[in-house]
Amino acid sequence: MINARFAVIGLGRFGSKIVRQLSRRGAEVVALDENLDKVDLLKDEVAHSVCADATDLKVLRNLKIDEMDAVVVAIGENFESLMLSVVNLMELKVKRIIARAGSAHQKMILEKLGVVEILSPEEEVGILVAERLIHPSVKTVLQLPDGFEIAEIIAPKGVLNKTVKEIEFEVKYNLSLITVKRIYDVDKKGSIDKERHLLGVVQPTTAIYENDEIIVLGKEIDIERFIQLNK
Ligand code: ATP
Repeated sequence: MINARFAVIGLGRFGSKIVRQLSRRGAEVVALDENLDKVDLLKDEVAHSVCADATDLKVLRNLKIDEMDAVVVAIGENFESLMLSVVNLMELKVKRIIARAGSAHQKMILEKLGVVEILSPEEEVGILVAERLIHPSVKTVLQLPDGFEIAEIIAPKGVLNKTVKEIEFEVKYNLSLITVKRIYDVDKKGSIDKERHLLGVVQPTTAIYENDEIIVLGKEIDIERFIQLNK
């Protein structure tokens, strides 16, 4: 059980996914949407589901939204409603506000408003799809500030059966190897299932094998170079 309380405003596909995941993890969630159908869809899965307009300051005050550990504003289409909801949350001095931006302009406006945590699901998925098309070996990418990213990639041929020390991630490629994901046979009551697990902290003697996925930190250009040189 997680000892934290969250609210999610806007229960479209994105917001409802966040709500479901938080509930599944044992967090107390208040789910709010102005559309009753959206609220009804989630009512059996959350502690409190509320049909109300988040642009109404009174509504949020009555819900004691300021007592939440974090509030996610996941309204998508209607940016004016999203902004007004954010302003209301700021007015009520909510500790942690996480807002969704549907475009670079919206992101900039939210930043100017003082929102620190901004989610751009469409942009993030767009980047990942493009990366996967360019390099099918890239499984996930997390973009970081200053041109850095963390990428999960299928270990390229050129590094197989070599140790981390031999590969020289730092010196040769300007990359930091964070960890490795490896497929293990897991005995599930008689039948053997294949599961991917993290190796944890890698050592210089750790070797990389076929089908491993490696998680590296570095500049986009260096990650690309590493894939090209070892494919
Ligand atoms: P998604 O892209 O997450 O699937 P969607 O396209 O279904 O979302 P959006 O228009 O992006 O719908 O809005 C997400 C949710 O936010 C909707 O269910 C909508 O009813 C809700 N919403 C919009 N304005 C408000 C508001 N002022 N107060 C509360 N909920 C709102």
